[in-house]
Amino acid sequence: MATQQGRHFLQIPGPSPVPDRILRAMDMPVIDHRSAEFARLGHEVLEGSKAVFKTTQPVIIFPASGTGAWEAAIVNTLSPGDTVLMAETGHFATLWRNIATRWGVNVEFLPGDWRRGADPAAIEARLVEDRAHKITAVMVVHNETSTGSTSRIAEIRQAIDNAGHPALFMVDTISSLASVDYRHDEWQVDVTVSGSQKGLMLPPGISFNAVSEKALAASKTNTMPRSYWDWQEMLKPNAGGFFPYTPATNLLYGLKEAVAMLREEGLDNVFARHKRLAAATRKAVEAWGLEVLCQNPAEYSPVLTAVLMPPSHDADHYRKVTLEKFNISLGSGLGKVAGKVFRIGHLGECNELTLIGALSGVEMGLAAAGVPHRSGGVQAAMAALEGNVEANAPKV
Ligand code: PLP
Repeated sequence: MATQQGRHFLQIPGPSPVPDRILRAMDMPVIDHRSAEFARLGHEVLEGSKAVFKTTQPVIIFPASGTGAWEAAIVNTLSPGDTVLMAETGHFATLWRNIATRWGVNVEFLPGDWRRGADPAAIEARLVEDRAHKITAVMVVHNETSTGSTSRIAEIRQAIDNAGHPALFMVDTISSLASVDYRHDEWQVDVTVSGSQKGLMLPPGISFNAVSEKALAASKTNTMPRSYWDWQEMLKPNAGGFFPYTPATNLLYGLKEAVAMLREEGLDNVFARHKRLAAATRKAVEAWGLEVLCQNPAEYSPVLTAVLMPPSHDADHYRKVTLEKFNISLGSGLGKVAGKVFRIGHLGECNELTLIGALSGVEMGLAAAGVPHRSGGVQAAMAALEGNVEANAPKV
């Protein structure tokens, strides 16, 4: 492949591009993680990140990818032989299910067709049936990154309450946090799992468990073995701004900056921007005559759009051509939809012009790879963005 000029367009649904401001904030000498200077940073990020989760309860930060935080949620709250209820929203729900299974948890996996979010009514019906309260936890992926469907967490909370069921509620917000409205305390989520490399606009490498009192109580009696992931071991030094082992110091500098950026823009404006860019993307897909994978408009993802390839066209071939010709990375289809969909990420450091640039790459790529489509998708997206000027004005 010839060397490509200009800036690479990283339009996968995470890792997302890291803003220059965050890169600069991380460009610091590594400091002593047992020093008073570190304790100040530790306090700032442990306290500051709470606003992003909309919680006043502890947020635990692991030097790990999101998968580590998934495992931490399981080993701190469940015991081998427990039964949990999960929903098959796509590839990531399946991977989280697999981890729970490997830890000896019995997972009831509500089947799904990967074209919508978790069904609150199905969850309620199963919990009502569980009169003996054998189900210890309900575990849901908020934004299913493999499909572009966003589950309705407030409605699932309501479903659990309607059933009068005491199960813990655990939610994966790895690709939704700081992109989609999310309320850990208001929705009484017990463990919110998240990661750095998507809406928080950081490089990969740190991940989170926001935990409720009920989850902390469960962690005192559950019997799953753990060491590195143990919340209690974390919370003790965290009280002084420290970590029990070497933290990802420079990512924490970045996190401090990301929290400041989100505060400056205002979370509601951040969420509105993501929705606006997603709506324009769907207009482009419609104009191309292609189909969005998510079939429930109430669950369209503000973070990414998964697009179905016309039959007998390979999405990975299309992505390869598009990368080679136009220097843009699009997300691949994962698991069951491998080769059948490509994913356009529109999250984090993304604005109207980034999106239009990305959609131009997608459209030119469709032509270059010989994928049947109509032109005019970029035009349709521009019209959607232009028509929205009033609604776009930031709320003050
Ligand atoms: N959950 C969701 C929804 C994800 O999108 C991802 C990664 O893309 C993960 C979990 C796994 O996170 P990681 O790859 O950081 O381990």
